[in-house]
Amino acid sequence: MKKLSFLVTAGPTREFIDPFRFISNPSSGKMGYEIVSAAYEKGFEVLLISGPTSLKLPEKNIKKISVISAIEMRDAVLENVKDYDVLVMAAAVSDYRPAIFCKDKIKKSEKDLTIVLERNPDILQEVEKAGYEGVKVGFAAETEKLIEYALDKLHRKKLNLIVANDISKKGAGFASETNAVSIFSDKNDRVDIPLTPKRDIANFLIDYIVEYIGRKRKVVW
Ligand code: C5P
Repeated sequence: MKKLSFLVTAGPTREFIDPFRFISNPSSGKMGYEIVSAAYEKGFEVLLISGPTSLKLPEKNIKKISVISAIEMRDAVLENVKDYDVLVMAAAVSDYRPAIFCKDKIKKSEKDLTIVLERNPDILQEVEKAGYEGVKVGFAAETEKLIEYALDKLHRKKLNLIVANDISKKGAGFASETNAVSIFSDKNDRVDIPLTPKRDIANFLIDYIVEYIGRKRKVVW
């Protein structure tokens, strides 16, 4: 039987203003890298599409594509996703990018500077539009109304599962070793995981996805 396969995105994206400045966020990529490692160790096929991080994968056999901007990540995901059973979007994709890229370093002056931002594409929504039939797992990092916003994303982005975390909580979210999450499914299931090392959350998530697929297809992997 064909091995179940996972495409996982991780890390932040960088949206360059000029060759030396960019807009980004503090995502370390840790959660996504742990998901990749957990899936690989469980014997599944994995492709990591990673924004810029300082992390290393535990195995050099794991396939990885490095990208910088949201547009590059979108292109890499759309090109590869059809070959994978599950898409896990753990990346913290920048919602906006500068409308104009200045090819030379912007000189400072006495005047204020206005940077116009334009929307980046929503990768999960583009994958849906492209007719992807696999399982889509999103992440929701929220500072308020966690459940309401996470469930809204689950439905709006037509996800199968969403992993929600309150990034205002100490020890949860961006650049920390631990996380506390609630996982919601499109079948109205909910699981709460208290503050736990990201690796253990990753292991749980992979098992949960496999079980979800088994229930959906009535197949045991
Ligand atoms: O809407 P929000 O950015 O909070 O949604 C988070 C989820 O959507 C994450 O899984 C993230 O990877 C994904 N996302 C995306 N494309 C974007 C922004 C976020 O696929 N442009």
